Amino acid sequence: MTGSETLFEQAQAVIPGGVNSPVRAFNGVGGQPLFFKQGEGAYLIDEDDQRYIDYVCSWGPLILGHAHPAIIDATTVTLAKGLSFGAPCALEVEMATTICELIPSIEKVRMVNSGTEATMSALRLARAYTERDKIVKFNGCYHGHVDALLVAAGSGALTLGVPNSPGIPAAVTAETLTADYNDVDAIEQLFQQFGAEIAAVIVEPIAANMNFIPASQDFLTTLRQLCDQYASVLIFDEVMTGFRVNIAGAQALYNIQPDLTTLGKIIGAGMPVGAFGGKAEIMNLVAPLGPVYQAGTLSGNPIAMRAGLSNLIELTKPGVYDKLADSTTLLTAGLLECAAAHNIPLHIQAATGMFGLFFTEQTKIERFSQLANCNIERYQQFFHAMLAHGVYFAPSAYEVAFISTQHDPAIIDATLAAAEQVFAAL
Ligand code: PLP
Repeated sequence: MTGSETLFEQAQAVIPGGVNSPVRAFNGVGGQPLFFKQGEGAYLIDEDDQRYIDYVCSWGPLILGHAHPAIIDATTVTLAKGLSFGAPCALEVEMATTICELIPSIEKVRMVNSGTEATMSALRLARAYTERDKIVKFNGCYHGHVDALLVAAGSGALTLGVPNSPGIPAAVTAETLTADYNDVDAIEQLFQQFGAEIAAVIVEPIAANMNFIPASQDFLTTLRQLCDQYASVLIFDEVMTGFRVNIAGAQALYNIQPDLTTLGKIIGAGMPVGAFGGKAEIMNLVAPLGPVYQAGTLSGNPIAMRAGLSNLIELTKPGVYDKLADSTTLLTAGLLECAAAHNIPLHIQAATGMFGLFFTEQTKIERFSQLANCNIERYQQFFHAMLAHGVYFAPSAYEVAFISTQHDPAIIDATLAAAEQVFAAL
């Protein structure tokens, strides 16, 4: 047995499914998960000393690659002074100031410990602010494992949320309305019917949990207009896109200011960190300033703040995003060329630092239902064949690929050389 196989067997005895987050179990691609012991730049090293070029990057936080010296060095210094105080520290202030400076729609921000906590808290706040209960979520968007947001995609355009996990009372999702992503007519109808009861619309401005589907400008503009018209709170969930596609997030790309923004991943650089922030008028309702309860034993701890701040400081240096955009283009153009040469229908949608592979004849994917016409089996074959060539993509056709500043042209060339062999054999 390999080291990973041995560990997976041990893990299954004591951890449900052997993993601490379901996608890691490889159920989406078949086979058994690899266990990793080290990350180094663009590479992951498994328990059997195999090296892999990593396009998962811890699902987003590692925009500077694994174990970046600037982050490790700064965090090590902070580490020696204690892990958590459970009391205010200067680094929290620096983090909040940095976020507010970089994302103009955020006037005040509260730090939490995960993206899930951020979206859960933002919804509570929006409901308190509007004194309304209904929320809108789009089919295929993921906002963490918040009870009210784990709703099944509806069959019709206007749908009342039905829990898609046992353990969630129907009453909890009864106030969650769902609509199709990028469907302007559906959201207009929803507001016509329920507008005065809608507390908030939560949306991934670039959806990165149903593979990679950017919102159309028209769709996000419509959301902004409807929320203004009906005095509902517009929440951009930028847990994935914040500080990845741009230093000011997807909201800067679309030039649309949400009322609240949720963040995670990159602001922790690999430590468990999330945040929600936005208009001061809304954020002032959060306890202890206001009545909306929200708290966290480890929120804003110095280690997580130092790691995340170091990430942000590196990202504000000139040229970082240009380089990342160039690497993304180099890789995606190369993959498309390679697939075409072997008559494999492949479509790619991308933004700076992230992209989605769709094995399909379709040339534009705009909503969740279109994924049904993608060849999931081919993705599974691609995944395993690339893995055998030392390249680690996400173990699910529904997840996106991430690229870091450490994925230099030589590493991208090596990836394309592997892809050439893989596509030739598919
Ligand atoms: N929101 C989005 C857009 C996400 O992609 C995720 C996780 O991938 C979350 C929220 C939840 O974040 P976490 O896994 O840190 O709870």
